[in-house]
Amino acid sequence: MFIELTDHLRCPADHDESFLVLLPDRMEGRSVRTGQLGCPVCGRTFQLTDGVLNTGDAPVLVRGNASVLDAEAITALVGLSGPGGYLTLVGPAAGRWREVAELNPGVALVAVNPPSDMTDSPGISVIHSGTLPLKSGSMRGVVLSRPLADDEGWVREAVRVVLPGLRVVGEGNNPPPDVVELLASADGVWVGTRVR
Ligand SMILES: [Zn+2]
Repeated sequence: MFIELTDHLRCPADHDESFLVLLPDRMEGRSVRTGQLGCPVCGRTFQLTDGVLNTGDAPVLVRGNASVLDAEAITALVGLSGPGGYLTLVGPAAGRWREVAELNPGVALVAVNPPSDMTDSPGISVIHSGTLPLKSGSMRGVVLSRPLADDEGWVREAVRVVLPGLRVVGEGNNPPPDVVELLASADGVWVGTRVR
């Protein structure tokens, strides 16, 4: 996990939003390989192992849930212009991160619940969790691939963590209109922003 990303993490427990305190055990350059993240509000701790944060409540995604979104589509739909910040890929689409990185230089990538064989490496931070343990309004874009975009809880998480006015791309049925303001929708893929 990028050391800088730890500034954007939040405790996934059900209390007012709180940051997590990092106690690194082993670093490789700017990557935390092993360490602990602790919540000052509830006292829970989370282990970083082989660079991966696993909060222990990630959904089991059935193999074969492929994403139709390729790197070109992800890049066009999420519409980042210029380097900086973070793009979060949730579910199977995270498997395309190398191509997404090539098309979006200078944008750090976060994979949440990616294909199970994906490891943490330079250019990508890997998280397994039942929510998005990221601070509200901290990401430049979120891509929710199948089947998570059909779950309203994940849609709410995606619009919570994205910066105001920036985009969430979903692969599934159109999201609830009180949660997402749709910009476009076609063939089971939608693009929207947080309802103001
Ligand atoms: Zn907590």
